[in-house]
Amino acid sequence: MSRLDDLPPLREVIATHGLSAKKALGQNFLLDLNLTAKIARQAGDLTATDVLEIGPGPGGLTRGLLASGARRVLVVEKDARCLPALAEIAAAYPGRLQVLEGDALEIDPLVHLTPPIHVAANLPYNIGTELLVRWLTPAEWPPFWRSLTLMFQREVAERIVARPGTKAYGRLAVLAQWRTEARIVMSLPPEAFTPPPKVASAVVHLTALPAPRWPADPDILSRVVAAAFNQRRKMLRAALKKLSPDIEDRLRTAGIRPTDRAEQVPIEAFCALARSFEG
Ligand code: SAM
Repeated sequence: MSRLDDLPPLREVIATHGLSAKKALGQNFLLDLNLTAKIARQAGDLTATDVLEIGPGPGGLTRGLLASGARRVLVVEKDARCLPALAEIAAAYPGRLQVLEGDALEIDPLVHLTPPIHVAANLPYNIGTELLVRWLTPAEWPPFWRSLTLMFQREVAERIVARPGTKAYGRLAVLAQWRTEARIVMSLPPEAFTPPPKVASAVVHLTALPAPRWPADPDILSRVVAAAFNQRRKMLRAALKKLSPDIEDRLRTAGIRPTDRAEQVPIEAFCALARSFEG
């Protein structure tokens, strides 16, 4: 493959700026620019869109996103040591990279972005699930983003795309698949990262559907699903008893056997159950 850009290789960037990986910040860097370009391509055609990237680190994925033609990339990075490396990338792509220093859980990046917006990130493992849940549960739907292209630990990726009747199926699968099309698009071994994490990773691509697959109030659905999976080994008539004294009738009306466990219930039936609590 021809060179991605005229910037130095990432190993050199890391050495120049003293970016030794910090475990507390979930730092497992991708140093192969062919790989970061490939992840950027999974996000789709970015040429007329803004991209939000959380945790750019030394900027491997950032460079992939810019090289693949993203109109603008906004990155949020907590580790100030990465800022000089990111400033070099910004200089190589004038007017197309904006860097915000801070905690992605606290900063609202939306004021800096113009739709259409895609999100792409090799997420720090300690905040990955929390960010995903926030992106999946906005006040309004469709959300601010068109797609999310996110690296997770393989086990988390499998929970996002899990089907009913499997061990991995749970709240994350319901939240994700109710209103998005979610697929695992790449698998990466630990050796793809520096330093290598203990577990394999995978990239999940989620496309926001224009409307939920089945009607339901998001807050009610969220509460019902959380209660059901909090006690996933229990039969639903027991796990959901606290929600209502007539839970068995509600379950039956939603087409769910009261003796079923949460992991057997398809999303459509959870939506029907949530609707029984509306009004
Ligand atoms: N994107 C880079 C790559 O692929 O090589 C780095 C990925 S590394 C797994 C996670 C990055 O997220 C690190 O650069 C880390 O400093 C940053 N990070 C950790 N916690 C963060 C937070 N709360 N807000 C923003 N960035 C954070």
